[in-house]
Amino acid sequence: MTGRPLLLLDVDGPLNPYAAPGARRPEGYLTHRLLPEGWVVRNAPLPREEVEPLRVWLNPSHGEELLALPYELVWATTWMEEANTFIGPRIGLPELPYIRWTNLFGEDPDGLHWKTRDVVAWADGRPFVWADDELGLQDIAWIEANHPGPGLALWVDPRIGLRELHFAALREWAEDE
Ligand SMILES: [Mg+2]
Repeated sequence: MTGRPLLLLDVDGPLNPYAAPGARRPEGYLTHRLLPEGWVVRNAPLPREEVEPLRVWLNPSHGEELLALPYELVWATTWMEEANTFIGPRIGLPELPYIRWTNLFGEDPDGLHWKTRDVVAWADGRPFVWADDELGLQDIAWIEANHPGPGLALWVDPRIGLRELHFAALREWAEDE
């Protein structure tokens, strides 16, 4: 293998288990109230001071666990560059490259997730794992048909977030590539 595979990381779902049962903060997580610019824009024309900050649950040990994986980490999230200011520092991640979406929340003619084509274009043939809570079977099939290298779409339950089983699967997948 030449170089490490990419780990394309969604935030809401994998790192922030926003759908945890009972709206209760999962054990090991800290609660943050964050007001990224991307969220202010989505709430337009509501003035910034009236926008409700996002409640984000983050596990401070996730950064170290992610950095220990044999992958190059890349943000693949609606937070885009703001993941580097709002998310990374809170879990101990350095500044990472991020995918700038061309079809943010857009419709796809083939019913794919709006991230899927950009993920494959960004990977540009390199082996990758894409961890996200919204991808579906059609995305998995499309990646298999359209990505020239190994590509794994790893669905993460937003009620649970990234857990040891995912880290184990990621280590195993990298070893096999
Ligand atoms: Mg998500």
